[in-house]
Amino acid sequence: MKTRAAVFHGAGRPLEVCEIELEEPRDDEVVVRMGAVGVCGTDLHSIRGEWQRPTPMVLGHEGAGTVEAIGNSVSSLRPGDRVVLSWAPSCGKCADCARGRPAACVPLHRAIAAGTLVDGRTGMSQNGETVHRGTATGALVERLVVAERVALPLGDDVPLEEAALLGCAALTGVGAVLFAAHLEAGASAVIVGAGGVGQFVLQGTKLAGAKTVVSVDPVAGRREQALELGATAAVAPDELKQTMRRLLPEGVDYGFDAVGNPETTELALRWTRSGGTCVVVGLPAAGARFDLDPGEFNRREKWLTGTMYGSEDPAVALPILLEHVRAERLQLRPLLGPTFGLDDVNDAIEASLAGSAGRVVVQP
Ligand SMILES: [Zn+2]
Ligand SMILES: [Zn+2]
Repeated sequence: MKTRAAVFHGAGRPLEVCEIELEEPRDDEVVVRMGAVGVCGTDLHSIRGEWQRPTPMVLGHEGAGTVEAIGNSVSSLRPGDRVVLSWAPSCGKCADCARGRPAACVPLHRAIAAGTLVDGRTGMSQNGETVHRGTATGALVERLVVAERVALPLGDDVPLEEAALLGCAALTGVGAVLFAAHLEAGASAVIVGAGGVGQFVLQGTKLAGAKTVVSVDPVAGRREQALELGATAAVAPDELKQTMRRLLPEGVDYGFDAVGNPETTELALRWTRSGGTCVVVGLPAAGARFDLDPGEFNRREKWLTGTMYGSEDPAVALPILLEHVRAERLQLRPLLGPTFGLDDVNDAIEASLAGSAGRVVVQP
């Protein structure tokens, strides 16, 4: 089976839109006609050369689409069903899989580093050469073959371009608040970064009943959006000190770093109060290291922790998020940025690299 795809050949080079060959679905796999794919910070790490990944590779892992065909043993999906992809097709056998954390599965992380699925194959090729899969997915294609268990039922009421955001940014950001931090009603928070994930962390804090939430981002458009989504204040990094002295001089109950740079983590931790919890949500560039003052942890008894993919099994978390979407407690539409066709995928990448307010989405 052939499909058109956006193929990455290395940092600094444009993605190539071309035809690739897909293996037919196995018994436990489905073919998904991709409807929308969000450009995530993880894709940008590869594009900027901050993570070394094998090439050629199809990037993209935040997607939604419609099932077109199913393997012989597939029982939970039928052609025509709309699905959100989980990017964690884990091994299903290790201790992390057993505790309901497929995104923490070590064989999965090895596969992601190798640009393959857990069993070492990719099911994608071009002129006989293996084409690798970004984040064990490779969603920037018209058609994609994935395991049944990572094609999560969406229902019929959420548009695909909105649903795509659920697949990574929303599960990660909202999950960081609900399932990693377990933020209590009335709590306060600082969120460093107001891109896709940061705005979902913000919505998560509002869902959980946070009282005071300060969003921090250097991009004015993102700060405006944070205010519209309910932030108490939205400030540039150099304005944070002044704002915190006025609002919460002792710091917040929860600091979130939605970016994942050592400097942004430091900022979130600095404004976490004594005894408070700081959560690293964004993924760092390879080789990044913290330079931390141990006094933050003994004298001030702060907790520093992290979360991967919302610290919950996507198959469990997605229905919970969909319930919030249907009750209009969780908004997707305002977080949509510009959309592009597959042929304009390089413009989509440019817009995302430029810090577009709202998630950039490709509609293959
Ligand atoms: Zn992502
Ligand atoms: Zn596993």
